[in-house]
Amino acid sequence: MTLSTLLVGESQFIQQWMNRLPRLASLLPEAASSMSGAQATMQTTPPDLVILQGSWPQTLCLCDWIKQQSSPGQNYCLVLDDRPCEVGVDGCEALQCYRQSLAAALAAHADAYLWIPEGEMTQDLEMLLRLQLQAGLDQIDAHRKLTRANDLLSAIALVDALTQLQNRRAFDWELSRQVEQARQQQLPLSLLMLDLDHFKAVNDGYGHLVGDQVLQMVAQRLRHGLRFHEMPYRYGGEEFVIILKETNSEAALIVAQRLCNRIGQHPLILNDDGLEIPLTISIGVASLSSEDDAQGTSLLERADDNLLRAKAAGRNRVVA
Ligand code: GH3
Ligand code: MG
Ligand code: MG
Repeated sequence: MTLSTLLVGESQFIQQWMNRLPRLASLLPEAASSMSGAQATMQTTPPDLVILQGSWPQTLCLCDWIKQQSSPGQNYCLVLDDRPCEVGVDGCEALQCYRQSLAAALAAHADAYLWIPEGEMTQDLEMLLRLQLQAGLDQIDAHRKLTRANDLLSAIALVDALTQLQNRRAFDWELSRQVEQARQQQLPLSLLMLDLDHFKAVNDGYGHLVGDQVLQMVAQRLRHGLRFHEMPYRYGGEEFVIILKETNSEAALIVAQRLCNRIGQHPLILNDDGLEIPLTISIGVASLSSEDDAQGTSLLERADDNLLRAKAAGRNRVVA
């Protein structure tokens, strides 16, 4: 795993650790010696690991800022305290001072705090630092895996397993987004609601597996009948919806009629046995008006009403 690292502190500290870190943990750090420099790096190329000089005055403030900016577990902040052991200070006092610094680092949301007095890099301390860096590495690795798994699950949650089209959850989310955008940009927006005609008869006549194949083929035909940025969604069962951006009611009617013809004019031919299944669809069209709500519910209702009219009027047709 490659790990990006940022070293923050005074130039002497940076120089020292620039030499040590590649040897200790195969890290090739970037460096920043000012608050603004570190903040700029955090925003442009956020590092996985941040090592902050404990005696640098802005360290705790920066650490707190970094943690506020990032999601939990996204990076690992280690405060490396380099203040020297003071001569004449007894063990009790030194321990108390250590505890105070540790508490301050934790209060600033640091993931770890280590006191390695300048010039006192013993073997024990080197081992401790290695272990601490490894703990950071493990945390970042776990976070990356979790993020990847989450991304995958989010994608799965929005896709219909049978047709590979986006599902109703994706549609509900997208519709309100498109309504908002259309209003902001003062552009038209239309919606098509499609329903396969007498689809139950396909299931009853040929079985559900053939019915499934028919749904997949219809999804393909719809997809290929649209512009590349327009996607059909599987709304439920044998119903589909299509959001047409920047499209007024006249243009939407043309698109709907084209899709209706595309499905109805040629029977579907199933790959396995060359079985030909004639199929038609009915489509309801609606366009966004100023009275429609922000979620697009009333717009969807109008498209659905028109779909019912298309059914009642004999199917295989478009009503706008
Ligand atoms: P109409 O023309 O009025 O729309 O009639 P229809 O038969 O298409 O409508 P109906 O609502 O009576 O039946 C829809 C059928 O779609 C019933 C249901 O079993 C079937 N269906 C829904 N989802 C799936 C699916 O994923 N696979 C299969 N094979 N069938 C499905
Ligand atoms: Mg239906
Ligand atoms: Mg139907």
